[in-house]
Amino acid sequence: MIKAVKGMNDLYGKDAYRWGRMEEDIKMIVQTANYTEFRTPIVEEIALFKRGVGETTDVVQKEMYDFLDKKGRHIAMRPEGTASVVRAFIEHGISVNEPSPFKLFYIGPFFRYEKPQKGRYRQFHQLGIEIFGDDTPQMDAEMIFTACRVLDHFKIDYEVHINSIGCNECRPVYKEKLIEYFSSKKDKLCEDCCKRIKTNPLRLLDCKSCNMKMEYQKVPVMIDHLCGVCSDHFEKLKKSLRIFHVDPVIDPYIVRGLDYYTRTAFEIVADTGGSQNAVAGGGRYDNLVSDIGGPDTPATGFAMGLERLFDMVPEDFYQTPMVFAGYVLCEEAVDDLVHFAKHMSHHPVTFFADYRPKKIKKALQKADKAQISFVFIFGENEAKNKTVLMKNMTTGEQKTYGQHEVMLIVRELMDASAEFYSKK
Ligand code: ATP
Ligand code: MG
Repeated sequence: MIKAVKGMNDLYGKDAYRWGRMEEDIKMIVQTANYTEFRTPIVEEIALFKRGVGETTDVVQKEMYDFLDKKGRHIAMRPEGTASVVRAFIEHGISVNEPSPFKLFYIGPFFRYEKPQKGRYRQFHQLGIEIFGDDTPQMDAEMIFTACRVLDHFKIDYEVHINSIGCNECRPVYKEKLIEYFSSKKDKLCEDCCKRIKTNPLRLLDCKSCNMKMEYQKVPVMIDHLCGVCSDHFEKLKKSLRIFHVDPVIDPYIVRGLDYYTRTAFEIVADTGGSQNAVAGGGRYDNLVSDIGGPDTPATGFAMGLERLFDMVPEDFYQTPMVFAGYVLCEEAVDDLVHFAKHMSHHPVTFFADYRPKKIKKALQKADKAQISFVFIFGENEAKNKTVLMKNMTTGEQKTYGQHEVMLIVRELMDASAEFYSKK
């Protein structure tokens, strides 16, 4: 039997409905905050991610889905959104052709070759927002606040952890300090971290496998080594977050997995129901656009994992809509149901028709299983008299309508829907 590729999921039924509603709500929130949708292809030249995400990152070294196409081009499925958006930003001259700051969002699938577990998949989905052309700490705060607005909407408890990882002025000095510190601790480090000491020493701070927690009190941290400009940026970020009613936890061990961050780095942690508690992360990346060959453009943004968000949306947040259904009891009534389905399609009610004749008992059993609210029965008598029997499945109440009385029927269904939704 052919099964889905490992780490990739199907979505259907109630979950697909809830997922769709969740995406609609997210779009509404970010669109009202003036972010416009940006769609990029699922694949890019792998060189983009190597440059954009960083050669020394886990994402590029271990987690990439890549292949050669028929012309031998080295292509990768996108593991994250920022590099693609930056590529497009440069390619379309957005810095000159669109207003600044340019604020965008994206929602879609991403691919990472990771060990699948709850909250960690090989195809997963992210909401991302990015802002180009604004270097202010206030914009960083607004960006983080936007992530909070999404979580607040779904009534989720979370903590916002922030850090500053400095800039090209102060980070190299700090990196040297870290290298010096970790070089004397090699016996306590995992194999990957021993290799990373020289190439990417910041990553040692958030390594999950070599558990340096005990050592943390002594590890030099970036926030103690910020230059004047970065320090001022960080102070203003904290102040603006508080104005937005976001109370951040200062976490000097957030470095983010991807190489391109400058100054602000943040993560939002929540109880996602699994061992993966990061629901969103991001920060400022003022050098990425120019690193990829574009004009000097400050930028900031975040990505939120939608599977982890979905698992936290309260069970009763969305009710499934009321569905109405028509059944036929004999061949002679089939065309009546076709006519009825056609008329119902003009109205804002969810109507489902089952054209296969069956006994009334079977029809009602099916309706029950499908949680139908009202059924419409077309039997021999109804075909003869051009009527339809309507049954309220909750109360058991029955009524006969003329088949042409669709307006009256729809009115009754809409009243019932209004009552149903107002009670929830
Ligand atoms: P983690 O530390 O959990 O691996 P990350 O730092 O690799 O996360 P980012 O690149 O910051 O993740 O992506 C932003 C968000 O996307 C994460 O906070 C998480 O919610 C989600 N995410 C990342 N990788 C996966 C995955 N493989 N499956 C599901 N969600 C993911
Ligand atoms: Mg990861």
